[in-house]
Amino acid sequence: MADRYAVIGNPVAHSKSPRIHAEFARQTGEDIVYEAVFAAPDEFEAVVERFRAAGGRGMNVTLPFKHRAYDLASQRSPRAEAAQAVNTLSFGAGAIAGDNTDGVGLVRDLVQNLGCPLHGRRILLMGAGGAAYGVCRPLLDEAPASLTIVNRTPAKAEALRQRFAASTRVEIDAAGYEALSGHAFDVVVNATSAGLDDDTPPLPQGLFAPGAFAYDMVYAETPFLERARHEGALASDGLGMLVEQAAESFYIWRGVRPQTAPVVAMLRKR
Ligand code: NAP
Repeated sequence: MADRYAVIGNPVAHSKSPRIHAEFARQTGEDIVYEAVFAAPDEFEAVVERFRAAGGRGMNVTLPFKHRAYDLASQRSPRAEAAQAVNTLSFGAGAIAGDNTDGVGLVRDLVQNLGCPLHGRRILLMGAGGAAYGVCRPLLDEAPASLTIVNRTPAKAEALRQRFAASTRVEIDAAGYEALSGHAFDVVVNATSAGLDDDTPPLPQGLFAPGAFAYDMVYAETPFLERARHEGALASDGLGMLVEQAAESFYIWRGVRPQTAPVVAMLRKR
């Protein structure tokens, strides 16, 4: 019988993960089924337990449950500890292992797929929510020249800075958007959920250095990406990150690395 996996979230019906993992399974010949599972806010732990008791082997966790999954995991990877959030659960004998593949997904998409090196570059990270926490450690591991974290609520950017400042040689700054005037960056990552709305964070002119790359974690063309292109930056949405973080989860569960480029291409065609 096929091994069972799922993505759990609220909402979850829109999730592309079942399609992505079905494609990975087809490509690699792994015998798995992967479904989308909805959980009411107060039922996350119970729904995970039911899935596990019924023989489920692992789950991806999406909004708003990544912190609850961190608490639920009995073993956590260093990536999960750094992010304080879990997006990949693996069920073993008596243990629930938690990992976080979002950050490695972003870095692989930028560096390997999009040809955007991070080493020695000035990175601006917009947002200080769960996604920003998840990507800080992998971004810092690429040894950029600096990491500036900017957030609508500056105190949260400062808390994020403090979480990582002591464990890196990279210079980390934290601020509100008004402090960006007069500064230019080589890589600008939008990790806010402002996404598709017109209320894109207020960005000053001249933010994008020559040859800059703009990346939006949302997988759609956003006002932020339009603005970046208009100002001469290269730009990408977050579809590649989504597929790369899924590939890393698949590798954790199955020990096989699927090819991601054909899956990104398939999703873009649709
Ligand atoms: P979150 O924890 O709710 O954090 C939201 C962040 O966005 C906060 O920093 C918040 O600022 C900021 N924000 C919200 N509305 C804003 C606005 N109008 N102007 C300026 N800042 C605003 O959400 P998250 O989990 O970090 O997710 C963020 C985004 O990343 C979501 O769109 C999610 O879908 C996406 N994501 C994509 C992938 C992928 O694989 N591509 C993976 C993970 C996440 P305050 O602190 O001031 O409220």
